[in-house]
Amino acid sequence: MDHFDSDPRLIFIHADMDAFFAAVEILDDPSLAGKPLIIGHPGPRGVVATASYEARQFGVHSAMASVEALRRCPTGVWRSPRGSRYQEISRLVMQVFEEFTPEVEPLSLDEAFLGIEGSLRLFGGAVTIAREVRTRVKQCTGGLTVSVGVAPNKFLAKLASDLEKPDGLTVVDPDRIQQLLDPLPVERLWGVGPRTSEALHHIGLKKVRDIRGAGLDLMVKHLGEGPGQHLWNLAHGEDDRTISSGRDARSISTESTFSNDIQPGRKVDEFLRKAAEEVARSLRQQRLRARTVRLKVRTGSFRTMNRSRTLSAPAQEPGPLYEAVKSLLSDIDLDGEGIRLLGLGSGNLVPVSAPRQHGLFDDAAGSIREETVSRLLDESHRVPGGADLKRGRLIPGRPEPEETP
Ligand SMILES: [Mg+2]
Repeated sequence: MDHFDSDPRLIFIHADMDAFFAAVEILDDPSLAGKPLIIGHPGPRGVVATASYEARQFGVHSAMASVEALRRCPTGVWRSPRGSRYQEISRLVMQVFEEFTPEVEPLSLDEAFLGIEGSLRLFGGAVTIAREVRTRVKQCTGGLTVSVGVAPNKFLAKLASDLEKPDGLTVVDPDRIQQLLDPLPVERLWGVGPRTSEALHHIGLKKVRDIRGAGLDLMVKHLGEGPGQHLWNLAHGEDDRTISSGRDARSISTESTFSNDIQPGRKVDEFLRKAAEEVARSLRQQRLRARTVRLKVRTGSFRTMNRSRTLSAPAQEPGPLYEAVKSLLSDIDLDGEGIRLLGLGSGNLVPVSAPRQHGLFDDAAGSIREETVSRLLDESHRVPGGADLKRGRLIPGRPEPEETP
């Protein structure tokens, strides 16, 4: 599978947690493992939210009426959904996804698309990213599994993540897309619900290959211009949608676990400077500014602390991010413990085009100077050999920086 790592066409991942709600309940109460677990209310009006794989063997699935689930699986063990707990784990999982790319589009609490085109070189390829996503999700959640699909587009990535569930990793070979699609039932095409499925069956189209055989005109005639064309494209493995990552709600962050716990001092300071540079660069690449800066600290004994601060003016430069996070850190009582993990995050993101108000005490000349330096640095990352350029200082108000290559 690793030879796919050199294939630049694989630029989407769909990641989907396995039986998410049930898996979280088992994580919190391991005595539930192996049992036919049903998440939902078993009352007469109840609906199944999630069923463990053991319960699925009885024919129980999500969205099924609880009454029917009780009938099919009388030995089922029921648990009420705990939304806030699922949200908590969901946040961890989404944070893992964001370690690999800023292009994360959540579809629900437990699944998301990842646009990885910009991350291929950094991580070594799509399959490597997919493997590491799975490992990191397991690590960060304490053992939950996620199935991932790797493909040239969103439709195929979503299709693929489902093929080897649970705990699966499926790569769609870009040269064998049609072979993969043709034998599948039409219901596997995105957007084919019960009604469309019925309409397709009515004209004798049951498999994807039947749609291709029917021709575009017939599809349009029976389904209408838009849906007909849409299904025709999907049947050929074509889908040109991009990632919409809902920037407003998102944050850009970076964090690192150190190989040894470290004490506050030069090494911590170095990390924070580098982290501020990195986050600021992502902000500029996405033409965003951050209103809030977050610091995450985990100590040797796994005590985790999160602190945040609102900036006097939205920023996309490393200086203000670094200053804020440094002062947040100095306010934390580490109780003599070493630092195991540090993270710097930016939140409350606003587009660069939004009107900007300078803070009362802003050094306007200094911040304009810093923006110029940042632009030069960003440009240097795009030319060969230019990536060696580094910022000479991050703290505004010192003499001219030494950025000349
Ligand atoms: Mg799922």
